[in-house]
Amino acid sequence: MQQNEFITEIQRFKKEKNAVILAHYYVRPEVQDIADYIGDSLGLSHAASKTEADIIVFCGVNFMAETASIISPLKKVLIPDNTAGCSLAESIEPQDIIRWKQNNPDGVVVSYVNTTAEIKAYSDICCTSSNALKIVNSIPAEKKIFFVPDTNLGNYIRIKTGREMDIWDGDCCVHNRFDTKIVLDKSLEYPQADILIHPESKCSSDPVIHSMSNAYFYSTSGMMKHVNSSHKREFIIVTEEGVIHEMKKNNPHKEFILISTKAPCRQMKKVTLEKVLHTLQTEEFEVKVPAELSERAWLPIKRMLEV
Ligand code: SF4
Repeated sequence: MQQNEFITEIQRFKKEKNAVILAHYYVRPEVQDIADYIGDSLGLSHAASKTEADIIVFCGVNFMAETASIISPLKKVLIPDNTAGCSLAESIEPQDIIRWKQNNPDGVVVSYVNTTAEIKAYSDICCTSSNALKIVNSIPAEKKIFFVPDTNLGNYIRIKTGREMDIWDGDCCVHNRFDTKIVLDKSLEYPQADILIHPESKCSSDPVIHSMSNAYFYSTSGMMKHVNSSHKREFIIVTEEGVIHEMKKNNPHKEFILISTKAPCRQMKKVTLEKVLHTLQTEEFEVKVPAELSERAWLPIKRMLEV
């Protein structure tokens, strides 16, 4: 089957089944192009909560589809490839949180939204890369905090808020490659460029990077806003390569320099048009979080939305 035939069939089944396609910025460009909504974790969660569709086809990795199922328990959530995992979400087990809680019964567990439903269920409050500073600042100063699972994001928040926290030693295998040296080397090549850095990156807590006047720290959606509104011509993008597709579409005359061409998220790239069509046709690979777990996992998300 040719690409255009896949697209025609996907559109047909989508209409027939009243389905909506949500795609993360990190999936393949051709999959982003057939999506009804493209976004980062937070944006996609909002889209999942608002949709009137009966079926959500979630083009991303497992924990994201789980979050959609928690937020929209009455919808059928399908994932095109149910082996699409995440090194970060898989770095921590519920037992790790239970152990910390036993030693810190009054402490607060803040979990980055890139976690499994089980980890969310043991957390007190969730955060995303765009609201993490606000969430941590909302916790009373006398409370001890356990930030999970991303060590780079945790260290970034610690520096920005001055708040001491226990931080879990997990990382995203993509962003953890982006260290200070790789950023400095690229900025020497493109001295005029703004440098847009996702705080999951290894360099995000380095004072050397923080001292650079052209370095900005953003969630993926924050990066999109920056490139859309900036008068600059060149941008060094320190995150997963998939974001550049949407940036170029919206800003064809600007130049986007990828920090590394050797760090795609292989899990996100598992989602293909063929698999999207398959899941729509067969309704195979449903992601359904059991009701009791879903209710517990929803609470820290709800607290985050209230803050
Ligand atoms: S880019 Fe990193 S955090 Fe995102 S899904 Fe891939 S491994 Fe997980």
